[in-house]
Amino acid sequence: MPLDPDTFDALIDHLRRFVSERLRPLEAEVEANDAIPDSVVAEMREMGLFGLSIAEEYGGLALSMVEECRVAIELGRTTPAFRSTFGTNVGIGSQGLVMAGTPEQKAQWLPRIASGEIVTSFALTEPDVGSDSGSVKTRAVRDGDVYRLSGTKRYITNADKADLFTVMARTGDEKGARGVSAFLVPRDLPGVSVGEPEKKMGQKGAKVADVHFDDVPVTAANRLGAEGEGFKIAMRVLDRGRLHISAVCVGVAERLIADSVAYASERHQFGHPIAQHQLIQGMIADMKTEALAARALVMETAAAKDAGKDVVLESAAAKYFASEMVGRVADKAVQIYGGAGYIADYGIERLYRDVRLFRIYEGTSQIQQVIIARETLKRGG
Ligand SMILES: Cc1cc2nc3c(=O)[nH]c(=O)nc-3n(C[C@H](O)[C@H](O)[C@H](O)COP(=O)(O)OP(=O)(O)OC[C@H]3O[C@@H](n4cnc5c(N)ncnc54)[C@H](O)[C@@H]3O)c2cc1C
Repeated sequence: MPLDPDTFDALIDHLRRFVSERLRPLEAEVEANDAIPDSVVAEMREMGLFGLSIAEEYGGLALSMVEECRVAIELGRTTPAFRSTFGTNVGIGSQGLVMAGTPEQKAQWLPRIASGEIVTSFALTEPDVGSDSGSVKTRAVRDGDVYRLSGTKRYITNADKADLFTVMARTGDEKGARGVSAFLVPRDLPGVSVGEPEKKMGQKGAKVADVHFDDVPVTAANRLGAEGEGFKIAMRVLDRGRLHISAVCVGVAERLIADSVAYASERHQFGHPIAQHQLIQGMIADMKTEALAARALVMETAAAKDAGKDVVLESAAAKYFASEMVGRVADKAVQIYGGAGYIADYGIERLYRDVRLFRIYEGTSQIQQVIIARETLKRGG
């Protein structure tokens, strides 16, 4: 049974307070230490955030897509790394299992994923394989009851603390996406190793690292779906993930607009608050209009997904528009703050760097354009 509306509204109220009173005061500390405090992770576990999208029978909150997007918007109003802490458990790290797992696989892993006891990662990208994700080179060769997995995955979010990886690897001789299968790979198997976290432009506190698989024996019972279905599973996972990311973009944009309005109302130049200058108002109007448009697109697509509709095109459009939109909003926020927008103490330059990632991961803007055009041509308009 999903949450009743009153309980869901109470969750949103609670989250809003958690974000404004608990998380926002920690933003500078997270940036400086490049880490989320353990106490915050524990509170997030307590609130059920690691299991938002997982069925109740496995201990999750079983939120609909609309509800999950509303939660993502709330979490967007602070440093995105806080959301990333549980983001892979809710999204790309667990959804392959949710969509294609057997009852045994689900029973084995989902309760611990939903509670946050374990962290999951999604491992598709490789050193030579990014946007052309159907061409993965990591190999899984059948050897009796196990597959022997070898290869390297790159830029894997939360790899530093992950206990379980969903790994896309080539099983067949078929070229391209049809030769790819998906596997659940526990970190403690022999031959799994994780590299040092990368130094990044933004989103400090959320780590990415390489994951190496050196002849790792993965039991055949850990394959997700049939051989050759891995790419399809990965794409379904990403369709869903793109909507969640779009919602986060809306949240960050709303935060930036609120901060910009507050600053523009306080800061005086030429004898007036700068908010009274029409050129500043023009920027605020553009920021607000774009954020409203993105919110409408995200929520309408989420509702269509909940209704069982095919939203491949709309999810890509939401990710494309919302991620580009928040980039433009962040740029204008820096402009409204003037010199202060460039100075770390005000936090605006940090968000400006943080949001740059949204145009790159879970499919770049160009890949979203490719999907949108392909689906539009297929639908005939
Ligand atoms: C912080 C971070 C976290 C990440 N987390 C994960 C994760 O958890 N799991 C995971 O598997 N991956 C993850 N990634 C990888 C991410 O999804 C890829 O970086 C992304 O898909 C782009 O691939 P690439 O970096 O290889 O760029 P490339 O594919 O090399 O692209 C380079 C440029 O070429 C453009 N391009 C490529 N193909 C086309 C085309 N057909 N038409 C037009 N333009 C094209 C791209 O848009 C881009 O502008 C993460 C990346 C980062 C930076």
